[in-house]
Amino acid sequence: MSQSNVGRRSFLKLAAIGAGASATSVFGNNETLREATNEEIKNPFPNSVIKKTICSICSAGCGVLAEVDEASNTWIRQDMAIDHPISQGSHCCKGIDQIDLTKSKMRLKYPLKKVNGKWERMSWESAIEEIGNKMLEIRKEDGPDSVEFLGSAKFSNEQAYYFRKFAAFWGSNNIDHVARI
Ligand code: SF4
Repeated sequence: MSQSNVGRRSFLKLAAIGAGASATSVFGNNETLREATNEEIKNPFPNSVIKKTICSICSAGCGVLAEVDEASNTWIRQDMAIDHPISQGSHCCKGIDQIDLTKSKMRLKYPLKKVNGKWERMSWESAIEEIGNKMLEIRKEDGPDSVEFLGSAKFSNEQAYYFRKFAAFWGSNNIDHVARI
């Protein structure tokens, strides 16, 4: 089967099998493990409920079915809302993995700086100080129109307002919305 013939669900199943095989080889000798019961295999999250919600990444607001495990109050799986009037069962590549905004181990939780080719953690105060100083240096050397401010589709009205104000106080009209690209 060619890669293009592998549907999303098949791909996810294959990925799950791959992940399961890796986990089995890592923990294979751990005596605390037991085989899952048939009930657990059929339904690993018996207390889960489907919550209808929307993707918050952009203002299109595509429909998301979020499966939540009530016992642990955890978002465990995501699917598309086929009956949603806007998205009608489709998502873009950002929305399809929206669950990763809460679950991914790759989430960026603090500022990082590349030093000699390696990422190093830094404090928020140092990051803001360094970025601010660099911006002031750029403005002094090349003027306020040497930069562009690019707004985010995730901004709320209020965030968009103060982002616009920030550009104005900076001294430039070079500001636009990310969707323009
Ligand atoms: S799935 Fe994509 S298009 Fe839909 S709301 Fe999310 S980011 Fe926007």
